[in-house]
Amino acid sequence: MKPNTPWRPARAAAITWRTDGTPLANDFDDVYYSRENGAGESRHVFLAANGLPARWESHRGEQFTIAETGFGTGLNFLVTWKAWQALAVPRPRLHYVSIEKFPLAAADLERAIAHWPELGEAGKELLAQYPGLLPGQHRLVFEGGHVVLDLWWSDIDEALEDLASLGSPFVDAWYLDGFAPSRNTAMWSDTVLQAAGRLSRPGATFATFTAAGAVRRGLEGAGFEAEKFPGFGQKRESLRGTLRRSGTAASATPELAWDLPSECPATPASALVIGAGLAGCSTAHALARRGIAVTLLDQGALASGASANEQGVLYTRLSRRHAPLTDFALQSFRFASRFYSQLFAAGTLKEGVDGLLCGCFHTSSNTEEMAQLAEPLAAVPELARVVDSSTANRLTGLQQSSGGYWYPASGWLHPAAVCRALAHHEYITLHEHVGQVGLEVENGIWKLTRDGKVLAEAECAVIAAGTSSPGLAGLDWLPLQAIRGQTTSLPRSEMTAALRAVFCHKGYIAPARNGQHCIGATFDLGEETPEVRQADNRENLARLAEAVPAWAGELDRLDPDQLPARVGFRYATPDYLPLVGRLPDRNAFLRDFASLRQNARQHIDRRGQYVTGLYTSTGHGSRGLTSTPLAAELLASMICNEPVPLDRSLCRALSPARFLIRDLRRNRI
Ligand code: SAM
Repeated sequence: MKPNTPWRPARAAAITWRTDGTPLANDFDDVYYSRENGAGESRHVFLAANGLPARWESHRGEQFTIAETGFGTGLNFLVTWKAWQALAVPRPRLHYVSIEKFPLAAADLERAIAHWPELGEAGKELLAQYPGLLPGQHRLVFEGGHVVLDLWWSDIDEALEDLASLGSPFVDAWYLDGFAPSRNTAMWSDTVLQAAGRLSRPGATFATFTAAGAVRRGLEGAGFEAEKFPGFGQKRESLRGTLRRSGTAASATPELAWDLPSECPATPASALVIGAGLAGCSTAHALARRGIAVTLLDQGALASGASANEQGVLYTRLSRRHAPLTDFALQSFRFASRFYSQLFAAGTLKEGVDGLLCGCFHTSSNTEEMAQLAEPLAAVPELARVVDSSTANRLTGLQQSSGGYWYPASGWLHPAAVCRALAHHEYITLHEHVGQVGLEVENGIWKLTRDGKVLAEAECAVIAAGTSSPGLAGLDWLPLQAIRGQTTSLPRSEMTAALRAVFCHKGYIAPARNGQHCIGATFDLGEETPEVRQADNRENLARLAEAVPAWAGELDRLDPDQLPARVGFRYATPDYLPLVGRLPDRNAFLRDFASLRQNARQHIDRRGQYVTGLYTSTGHGSRGLTSTPLAAELLASMICNEPVPLDRSLCRALSPARFLIRDLRRNRI
């Protein structure tokens, strides 16, 4: 997705359904899997020829990673997941990365999966989380994180090049499953096969249904030893093989490699997470579910800072053009919505008390934008659609006159309940009210100190302390700005009880929680007044009255002085993307990339120096409910040396070091 190109969904696969129920791809005139028995073919060609499931039993690492070229109907993934389920515990976590340029529309996926009742619940779970045609990368988490599926809706060349450019081989087994090489050379080019070699861990294997000589030669050229084996059904021969040399370094890209760390520490066994708001709790949770012992600390109570509002909205924002801000807003929104719906489904969060994914309507007066987005959005109904005012009123129960966007998977949450649910884990030890603390490192061990005493220590530290983040470990150079926001509590009345969904106008209101609607919020950049202001309550009421004139009379009769209110400070960055990732060694950056001051476009053949074991997730502004779950996955994946859930350009757009590079280029530091 190139920045500044028109926002478009991924192009759906055009499919013809044969009478026997198998799908055929019109553009390639080829089948997705064997017409004789697709699941049997998956087991024979992809699992068995890669030595699975036996290899999982002897696998020494915590995680086994499969990469697939062509996700198609997800049949290979589902068959693999079922085989993994049959393994005795303990078993390695299964990470499955699949690249697909023409994803199936959700209805086609449903039809394809219905053909395989033997895949049972796994198929239903895949469908429930399927991102449809939303472009970008999608991390789907199953089995409490023991099975992870990364879907990259991308051309194969771009995705593999992007992953290989990170220079960290991670693949244990390849499923090479493009259509027949004669019908789709792009999936079997030397560039693709070379990238597969570069991404392979020592001892990685591959398997494919084809035995084409060109594919064999390409794989051998990429470092694999290849052999033929009997194919499935009527297919006489197929190919399998093993990498005979270790994966090679990153390919040279025209981009500066400041985002790639010069050293990657081993996966730690323990972590400190400083700050028990949404950013800290979700990071602690993501690390704990990977088996890392986490000490989670907060100077005050859990969820007492920016995460203390009674109700928050799972907010996202569309745009006519691709940009890191839009792409991250949409990808993190879909991830968060899946994440919370799993917590509701598991009973960890209670519907109506801890939140409700009841849908959300955003008013818009930008008719031109709505007209332009209506068509692309029609292909991603799970994400959003353009609605007129009467449809909006039917969906929300309101009487108002604006059209806008309807987000069916959105809703509201009680952030403290989310924090509590996430912090409740056998690998997390929570310490609240620790007061003002310091962070030091000694011989690679991070120590949290207070009054000269060590409170806790661990192999790595994550700073997620919102307002106090800059005070820790010399981070005062991070360009975080405080935005004061006041919310007002509005008692539920007969009038507001009609509200069935979240309503975002210049402010927001959600269906009541415990008899109160939390409405808001004001937005005051750089303001530091912590006291509640009557004028701000009035502003919140006035905005709501303006958006819902039918409510104006009753709202007008309320005394703003009598309404409970709360002031919070969100921390945002100048580009409104959060700061998520490794923390740079500032002095080393200023030294190593100094010549950018003279020539901003200069290529410097150097990686970035980062403070070993120090990370952050902060600057989420008012979108913490939306951005922190995916930010936590990103951080945990980086810390545990796993494939990351976002492409390199988005990782760079979130990296805290981006501001050092930006300021060097502008000759400001
Ligand atoms: N593994 C799939 C399954 O289990 O259903 C079947 C994959 S099917 C044989 C090949 C897939 O490759 C199709 O889904 C097709 O859309 C995808 N594909 C074709 N050309 C591509 C390209 N250039 N980049 C990425 N994917 C591509």
